[in-house]
Amino acid sequence: MLYILFRGIIKGTPRVITLVGMILFMFGLCPAVLLAGQEDIFNAISIIFYSVALLAFILALFKYLIWRRSGLIRSLPVLQLDHVTGKETRHRALLGVRETTTYAKTQPVVFTPPASGSQRISVICRTCQQEMVFQVDSFQQIKKKRLRAVVIWGGGLLLSIILGIISTYAGQTKPMALWVYLVWYSHAILFFCSAGGILMLFAYIGAKTVRLYPGHRVRFPEKNELAILYNAPGAAINNQ
Ligand SMILES: [Zn+2]
Repeated sequence: MLYILFRGIIKGTPRVITLVGMILFMFGLCPAVLLAGQEDIFNAISIIFYSVALLAFILALFKYLIWRRSGLIRSLPVLQLDHVTGKETRHRALLGVRETTTYAKTQPVVFTPPASGSQRISVICRTCQQEMVFQVDSFQQIKKKRLRAVVIWGGGLLLSIILGIISTYAGQTKPMALWVYLVWYSHAILFFCSAGGILMLFAYIGAKTVRLYPGHRVRFPEKNELAILYNAPGAAINNQ
């Protein structure tokens, strides 16, 4: 799990790195959330997670700025559709992990948002001619969905922090009353739901998969794929 996260930091697109950073940050908060009243949010393990998360955010920002300067970040949502041709699993004895490499014939899918609302569109795989269905939101819809997610999940996170503080203070008198436990559990549940909602917000680009034919996958495009798509300079070099 951690190996996958670190690999995501090194090889990922800015969006993936940001997501990984957020997951690490939440790992850091875990002990504080689950052991309310016993651990504070700045214990040693948490600080390690926060530091790596911070590095990830800085790296994501740098990558984003470089990508934007190279003309790789445009306003239309893009996803990469893979026609999977094979998988290879290697065991890395040194790291004690299994690494799966997926081979695929890939094609970029650039979505043109409709004027209003959202629209289903079908995309034909170039390799097998099968049809995939995606849903594209209009720019107005994208804005609305993002704003709604920020209000709901940001509010949820704030409420969970308040409940956390209440349960921490009320939990200092032993034995703990039943209501303190209830506040504490609702705090933890609310926290993870809100955190999940915020992750979804970051992963949302305005287009999503509705139906995928078996043997295909959808992901964020990598740097060289965007470079080829936009015919930008630096297409061949630095294809991480
Ligand atoms: Zn296909």
